[in-house]
Amino acid sequence: MSEKTQLDSPKELLSIVIPCKNEVESVELFYNAVSGVLSKIDGLDFELIFVEDGSTDGTLALLRALHERDSRIKYISLSRNFGKEAAMLAGFENARGDYICTMDADLQDPPSLLPQMIEIIRRDNVDSVAAKKRSRSDESAFRSFMASSFYKLINALSSVKFRDGARDFRLMKRRMLDEVLRLRESNRFTKGLFEWVGFNTRWIEFDPVKRAAGTTKWSPAGLVKYSIEAITSFSTFPLEVVSAIGLAMCALSSLAIVFLSIRQLIFHNSAFGWTSMICIIFFLSGVQLFCIGILGHYLSKIYMESKGRPPYIIAEKRL
Ligand code: UDP
Ligand code: MG
Repeated sequence: MSEKTQLDSPKELLSIVIPCKNEVESVELFYNAVSGVLSKIDGLDFELIFVEDGSTDGTLALLRALHERDSRIKYISLSRNFGKEAAMLAGFENARGDYICTMDADLQDPPSLLPQMIEIIRRDNVDSVAAKKRSRSDESAFRSFMASSFYKLINALSSVKFRDGARDFRLMKRRMLDEVLRLRESNRFTKGLFEWVGFNTRWIEFDPVKRAAGTTKWSPAGLVKYSIEAITSFSTFPLEVVSAIGLAMCALSSLAIVFLSIRQLIFHNSAFGWTSMICIIFFLSGVQLFCIGILGHYLSKIYMESKGRPPYIIAEKRL
């Protein structure tokens, strides 16, 4: 390429979406780290879209101040806490970049990977570059066990492949993001949606990093709820299991009825085993309640979707 055309060719724009809830200690560290890395990449402009998700610390005030200092720092402030998934969506819908990336504010998605990711997406024929942790050594043993079990379960139940250790951290071309944005479900599990839209993805691995500052925003109960949402968003298999259990129980009890009737007719001694009967009734009631619970969960999802409520509400934005 001649020097002139190189000067004339417009720079590509990278939008980075950063969901933030109570990240006052991390935001500036994040800004310094990411802008330091990105300013060394040729032919690339960037915008950082921080999505303030109902913080109760000074995150919003800090973002306002940073925006005054550097117009590449943009922010969207949601009217309350809508959760990370909704915050990411708000950022994606307002990103203008040719490339779009999402990262956590706490530097657990290492900015040092960005040059490699950008090089791959520019050079190779891929639509996204996604990052995955090599291990879960940054997490507690309990959380790591729960997370691995969750991935085993969801992979057994869903046709979309989920990678253990995968993060939301991913760089995408515009055309892939546009397809993700066409999926209008308000109950979102973005990691699954990235897989569902397809396209070529290159995976890169990195050693897990501990949070730069602050504490995790996830409670154990929140993680369990998130896992149930993810499984029921990407699989109807639990419903099929329910039907299969029901059918098997009908077949077994029919056999038992035939057996008891014959025994009554021949030996005239049917009703005994009161205690075991109560156990069986309790067991079956439990199975039924469990199944009704699963049905109810899907029903509640249809109910929530049918209301058509927006996934988030913006209170203030500077883009
Ligand atoms: N986050 C958010 N809204 C929430 C919870 C989390 O925007 O309701 C953001 C948080 O500020 C961080 C990212 O999502 O940038 C990941 O959260 P966290 O680091 O607490 O999760 P972990 O790394 O422990 O899974
Ligand atoms: Mg984190």
